[in-house]
Amino acid sequence: MDCIFCKIIEGEIPSKKVYEDEAVYAFYDINPSAPVHVLVVPKTHMESLNTVDEGNIQTVSNVLLSIPKIAEQLGLLNGYRVITNCGTDGGQTVPHLHFHILGGKKLSEKLN
Ligand code: 5GP
Ligand code: ZN
Repeated sequence: MDCIFCKIIEGEIPSKKVYEDEAVYAFYDINPSAPVHVLVVPKTHMESLNTVDEGNIQTVSNVLLSIPKIAEQLGLLNGYRVITNCGTDGGQTVPHLHFHILGGKKLSEKLN
């Protein structure tokens, strides 16, 4: 499949890995929007929140459960922001579900 994030998970495209388990892969964003900017993705391909269903919700749960562990590992003790962009108007550019972890400073309150 021609998916950048599937290729990153497979190691075909290099990435700076932060965390990995059976269901989850996390790596530094190539174009960071904050001092710490990590992407957390399910290892199985799914497009976005729009395609979460009974068949893949367990994997999505594992992704969500990994996020506080990853944030702790990254030293984000004062907090962090999690964003998932969904579809064109949401600003999604890579059609493989991913959660941005942003932190390392007091983030702007502006969300759009
Ligand atoms: P989206 O806009 O879909 O929510 O987020 C996609 C993110 O993936 C962007 O922040 C972009 O910088 C990041 N990205 C795109 N291609 C690559 C890549 O090849 N490697 C890494 N590490 N990040 C990427
Ligand atoms: Zn994919």
